[in-house]
Amino acid sequence: MKKKIVVIGGGFAGIQLVKNIDEERFDVLLIDQINHHQFQPLFYQVATSQLEPASISFPLRYILNKKDNLQIRLAKVISVDATKQNIESSIGAFSYDYLVIAIGCQTNFFGNEEIKKHAFTLKTTYDAIQIRNHILQTFENIISAMKVKERDCSTSSS
Ligand SMILES: Cc1cc2nc3c(=O)[nH]c(=O)nc-3n(C[C@H](O)[C@H](O)[C@H](O)COP(=O)(O)OP(=O)(O)OC[C@H]3O[C@@H](n4cnc5c(N)ncnc54)[C@H](O)[C@@H]3O)c2cc1C
Repeated sequence: MKKKIVVIGGGFAGIQLVKNIDEERFDVLLIDQINHHQFQPLFYQVATSQLEPASISFPLRYILNKKDNLQIRLAKVISVDATKQNIESSIGAFSYDYLVIAIGCQTNFFGNEEIKKHAFTLKTTYDAIQIRNHILQTFENIISAMKVKERDCSTSSS
């Protein structure tokens, strides 16, 4: 019977690994909390309205459609029990023979709670959209403020 490899995370690391696993020897389960790969180096372009989010989002099932021995599940992994070789996720438990944790990293605020509270992060497409919306809204606010100022000036001079 084939051994089962569970890979958590369909980022650069997880995808590269899954692509290279020997299908004859292993069954593979890829779990990610989103069902598409996010091309992080282009987050800046989404955040600054130069690219649409869809341009940097690639469905995991499309990228890996040539793999016969692969299952993909949309779930957030909550905990790992290494003794029982079991993981708990938002859609239930999965057992494994080998586990690969490729979940990337989180933004480091270096212990500064004020920055954490107020800063924008840029680790997901959703973050990039939040920044883009904030920039666009700020420009809208500037235009509104300028219009009010123009109106006030013309009222006071007449
Ligand atoms: C804005 C930005 C620009 C960058 N530019 C460059 C660049 O120009 N060149 C370069 O070499 N590198 C760049 N990097 C770094 C590069 O993107 C990362 O090093 C790389 O994405 C890390 O790959 P990874 O597979 O380890 O993690 P990720 O690509 O972050 O993938 C982790 C995956 O795990 C999933 N995941 C996380 N937690 C869970 C969970 N609990 N349950 C289920 N799934 C989970 C996530 O949804 C994600 O799909 C950039 C990064 C950022 C943020």
